[in-house]
Amino acid sequence: MITFKKITKTYNPGKVEVHALKDVDITIETKEFLTIFGPSGSGKTTFLNIIGCLDVATSGEYFFEGEKISDLNSTKLSMIRRGKIGFIFQTYNLIPVLTTFENVELAMILSRKTYKKEDIYRTLEDVGIADLADRLPREMSGGQQQRVSIARALVKSPKLILADEPTANLDSENATSIMKVMRSMNEKYDITFVFSTHDPLVMNFAKRLVKLKDGRIEEDRLK
Ligand code: ADP
Ligand code: MG
Repeated sequence: MITFKKITKTYNPGKVEVHALKDVDITIETKEFLTIFGPSGSGKTTFLNIIGCLDVATSGEYFFEGEKISDLNSTKLSMIRRGKIGFIFQTYNLIPVLTTFENVELAMILSRKTYKKEDIYRTLEDVGIADLADRLPREMSGGQQQRVSIARALVKSPKLILADEPTANLDSENATSIMKVMRSMNEKYDITFVFSTHDPLVMNFAKRLVKLKDGRIEEDRLK
């Protein structure tokens, strides 16, 4: 599904250069449940942003479902993002004035896919928050808000879900339950998940572990 060939990312080229990724080669298959781990500053967010077409590599080649991403313009990139990729963030990033239902519905509207109200409710049920449909984000715990953001990523039936430190603001009980939801969606819908963490508890849920250090892959193993 995803292939990186000698991907590098250099911030501030020609000035005070930061080499965030250096010659990264990796292939990620459909249905994988992969964590990218490593210390702060090792390049995890940069890696996810490039996979998610939120940022482009400085050099190297990136293929997504056989398509060479490094050649596409920004309109085409945003079409891939909208249609095929769901995002989960550390700080949930829900719209504060919208209810759970509306936050999830908005993602569906933005994806420009056709849908019925039932599709939204089914997704809320999938992640265990059907009873929270009318709540605003501020009326929910962190764990509940993160479930809304999983529903938001899931609702458009993406091929891939990317999660950047999805449990970093949660206690271990909530982190475990979020990982269980992600893992069950991976198995139920064959969605590929790539997530970053430095929490050993979260790493335990992964089927494949890739360690980044100073922008290079230092370790890549299956569990
Ligand atoms: P991680 O997510 O593992 O903490 P990042 O991918 O955020 O790592 O960062 C990798 C390196 O790139 C760090 O040295 C960071 O300071 C640098 N970096 C990240 N984003 C930018 C940016 N927009 N401009 C300049 N340097 C950046
Ligand atoms: Mg990061």
